Amino acid sequence: MSDVTVLAVASEIYPLIKTGGLADVVGALPAALAAEDVTVRTLVPGYPSVMAELAGAEQVYGLPHFFGGPARLLSARTGELDLFVLEAPHLYHREGNPYTAPNGEPWPDSALRFAALARLGASLGAGLLPGFAPDIVQAHDWQTGLVPAYLHYDGGRRPASVMTVHNLAFQGQFSAALLPALGLPDAAFTIDGVEYYGGIGFLKAGLQFADRITTVSPTYAAEICTEEAGMGLGGLLRARSAVVTGILNGIDTAVWNPGNDSFLPASFSLRRMAGRRRNLEELRAAFRLAPDGAGPLFGVVSRLTWQKGFDLLLGALPTLLSEGAQLAVLGTGEPGIEAGFRAAMASHPGRIACHVGYDETRAHLLQGGTDALLVPSRVEPCGLTQLYAQHYGSIPVVARVGGLADTVIDANPMALAMGAGTGIQFAPGSIGMLESAIRRTCSLFRDQKSWRRLQSNGMALEVGWRGPARRYAALFRELVSRST
Ligand code: ADP
Repeated sequence: MSDVTVLAVASEIYPLIKTGGLADVVGALPAALAAEDVTVRTLVPGYPSVMAELAGAEQVYGLPHFFGGPARLLSARTGELDLFVLEAPHLYHREGNPYTAPNGEPWPDSALRFAALARLGASLGAGLLPGFAPDIVQAHDWQTGLVPAYLHYDGGRRPASVMTVHNLAFQGQFSAALLPALGLPDAAFTIDGVEYYGGIGFLKAGLQFADRITTVSPTYAAEICTEEAGMGLGGLLRARSAVVTGILNGIDTAVWNPGNDSFLPASFSLRRMAGRRRNLEELRAAFRLAPDGAGPLFGVVSRLTWQKGFDLLLGALPTLLSEGAQLAVLGTGEPGIEAGFRAAMASHPGRIACHVGYDETRAHLLQGGTDALLVPSRVEPCGLTQLYAQHYGSIPVVARVGGLADTVIDANPMALAMGAGTGIQFAPGSIGMLESAIRRTCSLFRDQKSWRRLQSNGMALEVGWRGPARRYAALFRELVSRST
């Protein structure tokens, strides 16, 4: 097999900087693709948390005047990741997260911060550095959507480009007045270019110009090509549907492995589930839940947003309580939803607990200790938490949308008869349907034999990156063979 070299461009990469699943995917794919003879180098912004991990980084290119200040391109290796890092203190050296200031407001210069990343990504892809000529540039999400556009308007040597959509809801739409500052020609401001509803659309640009479009599950790939779920981009995606592919995410089984998880009080496996019970006890203690819960302990590890459907869960709490179940919530998000869970905790101490914050240790404890994990999303491109849950023997209770539809086998009577279920699905997304899913989960929990079966089915699933990496590698090879 021939080697393929990919330059990935992304605004997050685990373990250096993470706000969501994007970072997990960008961090895990390089090692998985290496096994398929695909070499990946990843370009990321030099946020403080990235710079802090770059011992031994070397400058490979100087950019004295780059989007408003001096910048450098660094080359570095950390862990298994080969990185290019755009060090540009005027753009990235700030407290806060990649997208929002400490006060929660979006950075006012987001367009420039990410256009700079995309500009450099396109130049690197086109051969800026002697000896580095990637076959493919893979742009992840709206932050890097301008990569295919720059490649298009630059002309000259052009690697093939892939635009990967992790979440179509985030599109990066900015004022048309920025066009010159972004270094795009006036001619780019057309409906066939970067223009999007009167402004500049970063993701739109990527979808317009990339050779291939991938997204993170087959069902989401179909959903985003519809008017209803296309979020303004459905028409463009329908026009390009021949080049849209859905490839499910895997999980990083080096980080998420119940048999060897340093975040957990006790490791466990399908054959040795005693550790799991100990985690459950520790989890109850950590969340100050009553130790003698009769029903299942449900968990949530998520951004607490409308997209994730947590207003529905707030509405379904009386049912959850009436079934004798408990709930532990870990997440941050919309103030109204956070407040709703805090209020529920105050009214039902020992039964409902909520930790508002981002916390890796607690995330593992929830996966390795809860009986069931709730994912009531309205939209879910792939979703990782239901994959972790299945791998850790927590039964996912999910809305039947996007990647949740593709990764959980509903334990309906037929599936149970065939011994095939791994979780509970519900549709459509409404409080009533979520309530009935919770009731169904609780009644299955009372039938411990069926419950064990669901657990063992989930834990036996192949959810690592090998399968997905093979699919990406095949797509990359096909692209390379076409363009040569
Ligand atoms: P999304 O990317 O839409 O937020 P995913 O399910 O694809 O949703 O990925 C979410 C990732 O973020 C998972 O790795 C999950 O464990 C993690 N996560 C979400 N919220 C928290 C939190 N409050 N603390 C720790 N990890 C979290």
